[in-house]
Amino acid sequence: MAGRYNTSDGQQQGGFDGRRINRRRFLALTGTTAGALTIGSNPVTADTEYQEVTDVSGFRCDHPQFTCGREVTAADGMVSTVDPIAGGVAARVLREGGNAVDAAIALQYVLTVTQPHGSGIGGGGFMVIYDAESDSVDVVNSRERASQGATPDMFLDDQGTELDFDRAIQTGESMGVPGTVKGLETARKRYGSKPRQRLITPAIDLARNGFTVDWFLAEQIANNTWKFNDAALDTFSDERGTLYDEGDTMTNLDLAETLEQIKRDGSEAFYEGPIAEDLAAEIQRHARDPDRAVDANDIANYDVTLDEPVRTEWRDVELVGQPLPSSGPTVVAMVLRMLEHLGIDEHALRSPEMYHLIAQATIVAWGDRMEYMGDPEFIDDPTDALLSDEYLQERANLIELGRSVMGDTEGCFGGGNPEQIHDNGQTTHFSVVDQWGNAVSYTSTIEQFMGSGKMVPGRGFMINNELTDFDFAPGGANQPNGWKRPLSSMSPTMVLRDGRPEFTAGSPGGWSIISTTLQTILYRYVYGLDPLEAVTEPNIYTHYCGGIGWDDGVPPEARETTAAWGLEWDESPSTLGNVQVIDIGEDELTGAADPNRSGQAVGLDRVGRDRGRD
Ligand code: GLU
Repeated sequence: MAGRYNTSDGQQQGGFDGRRINRRRFLALTGTTAGALTIGSNPVTADTEYQEVTDVSGFRCDHPQFTCGREVTAADGMVSTVDPIAGGVAARVLREGGNAVDAAIALQYVLTVTQPHGSGIGGGGFMVIYDAESDSVDVVNSRERASQGATPDMFLDDQGTELDFDRAIQTGESMGVPGTVKGLETARKRYGSKPRQRLITPAIDLARNGFTVDWFLAEQIANNTWKFNDAALDTFSDERGTLYDEGDTMTNLDLAETLEQIKRDGSEAFYEGPIAEDLAAEIQRHARDPDRAVDANDIANYDVTLDEPVRTEWRDVELVGQPLPSSGPTVVAMVLRMLEHLGIDEHALRSPEMYHLIAQATIVAWGDRMEYMGDPEFIDDPTDALLSDEYLQERANLIELGRSVMGDTEGCFGGGNPEQIHDNGQTTHFSVVDQWGNAVSYTSTIEQFMGSGKMVPGRGFMINNELTDFDFAPGGANQPNGWKRPLSSMSPTMVLRDGRPEFTAGSPGGWSIISTTLQTILYRYVYGLDPLEAVTEPNIYTHYCGGIGWDDGVPPEARETTAAWGLEWDESPSTLGNVQVIDIGEDELTGAADPNRSGQAVGLDRVGRDRGRD
């Protein structure tokens, strides 16, 4: 990867040179005042409207080389994440000459500390990497695996009925072998340029010395005590036993020590020895049947896979992302391709026709997802067939204005019971681009907010409940099996033009990830919205059972008209996803972070934006 080889002055060689930009020229061409970008009727001033980060040594938003804000532009690097602290750490790594993968690794370790409700070393994820030097896209797949003893009926009770979801997520059977640490170490060894010690130290410092709890973490702590074990309750409370609240300084000394051991011994520290034993013991403690739940042997045998991304031509670009066992980028591509067949661009933004077609294509693609998709190590991979032009045309032919494909369907499109949907997971998505044009689009998760609610005692990290992403009813492509990975909706995606990334996107939000990601791409490419406009444009959310969730801002007239055509809208709006994007222009990088949480983008200008660039 470009960026691996430092020259003596800290500058690095390789990649992106032909795309270096002249910021002043760019601003003049676009008529933009430095740092100020207007988003709809709300002026977002990149240089002044940012969240100051005080927790990261060596980083501040008013440093001449950094720019922070909901949407920022910069020449030499960009990070877009929900967590300004993690963003600051990653931007520092970029400034020191680290590449996009280095920065992403440091960022993910920090998220384990500062955003433990969304992702962490007790979970897994998908890291999509564009390597500018080899001009290729690779994926490091650290999805959790079921135990080798898992069985198709493990989410059924003794009467053969599906377990209640809130109960299931707390069972040992829901907890997969975590992949994140192996994923990060694999990515670092293949693509990184910095030592592990450098990349993990900021997370250790934050866990040991404390960080400021943001409103969203405070909310997740308060909302999830019902499933916390004692270790989690202790860790998320201060020394008086009061739950941490917004603005408090939180420490996690157990996690600092766990990360210290990983820093010293690498992923072996996590997958073998005392940490693995404690992890296995906690999983086994919650198992309904210990033989079906992950044990120390499963943990020791875990390995990531390096996957070929799924690639789909769409308009004049290419959509590239994590393949199965994530359904995400494949379904995103199916819907966007169907919308092309349906002539989406003939319909105005926010028109009833636009929402109707998005909803219908999503319902149809979800029918295929639920029927055919699963871990490709266990099923015949249907991806090529589902993405063939012929098939998508045929599926698009089912769709028309004025009526819904759900028709009089009692259950879900293509089968399935609306009573048994599990669509409320959560996770985190972030993107990084470096000065050489290397890019990372990474979605990472412990499944539900705070995962299973169980923290490994004495180790400071939450255990995922990822295996509840399997179908609870046996028999389908996504039934549980020994050593299988559950089907995901995570959609870390890159849009490539002429083989080079031009836009990265992704989101948390369980099943809704697919809807929010595909609409962000649609709004950017078909409706020509700027990055932050595309992120904040109201989304709708649906799946194979057909109800329509919606962000505030979807016009009532559009809902009324399409209700008459058969769309079943939720009564009130939701807050869908938390999209993070980076737009990689010929002359400038633009990062945008979804304002519905605390996120911000951080840009790097190596020369310093106050001193000009000519
Ligand atoms: N478990 C989810 C998935 O893999 C990710 C977490 C979420 O639901 O947001 O699709």
